[in-house]
Amino acid sequence: MFAVAIDGPAGAGKSSLAKAAAQELGFVYVDTGALYRTVALYLLEQGEDPGDPQAAQAALPHIQVGLEHSPEGQKMYLCGREVTGLIRTPEVSMAASKVSAIPAVRAFLLELQRDLARKNNVLMDGRDIGTVVLPGAQLKIFLTASAEERAGRRVAQLEESGHPADYDSILRDIQQRDYQDSHRETAPLKPAEDSVLLDTTGEDFAQSLGRLVSLVRERL
Ligand code: C5P
Repeated sequence: MFAVAIDGPAGAGKSSLAKAAAQELGFVYVDTGALYRTVALYLLEQGEDPGDPQAAQAALPHIQVGLEHSPEGQKMYLCGREVTGLIRTPEVSMAASKVSAIPAVRAFLLELQRDLARKNNVLMDGRDIGTVVLPGAQLKIFLTASAEERAGRRVAQLEESGHPADYDSILRDIQQRDYQDSHRETAPLKPAEDSVLLDTTGEDFAQSLGRLVSLVRERL
């Protein structure tokens, strides 16, 4: 099996690029942020604080996270109920960032991610794929762009899916999530030593996609 690990901050375009590259290469695209979002949604729905490690630990035995790969993309299930759309709100984004700092939650999702890479050629995106989840990945990419550019892209994305968005609050959220994700003790966001840096600031989608696909083809 061949694994491409793609890590980087929120809004760098990891998911749309990885999805398109996977389609071009015939790989399975795995969005690992969706797993943390699904756990976060469960806690929010239960009225729990997603940053509370005790509440999360007590909830884990009741949480069943399912994923399905379809032509439209990765579908997410929480205890059998489809939550693909529900996990995309700004509220769930912030809760996912909090929940993902809890070591028990990361441990809970680890095997699920490794198992997907054992069974498929994957392009897997997240924060710690090259450093923790798949340290043996044949190609590791750290994908980034400036915070302002990422905020602009996220606003456009949310508006397209019918969620009106405010640039300033999205930028603040992105900066806060960057800080939380890179300063946590467990699996902080940082480039793997052997990763290739792909900075997409000022590039359009096709340019970034071309660079990503070429990097994979060089290693295949
Ligand atoms: O990528 P996405 O924005 O959907 O991820 C939501 C949150 O889940 C991130 O802010 C990050 O804190 C967390 N995450 C993580 N490790 C991953 C993927 C996502 O900690 N591999």
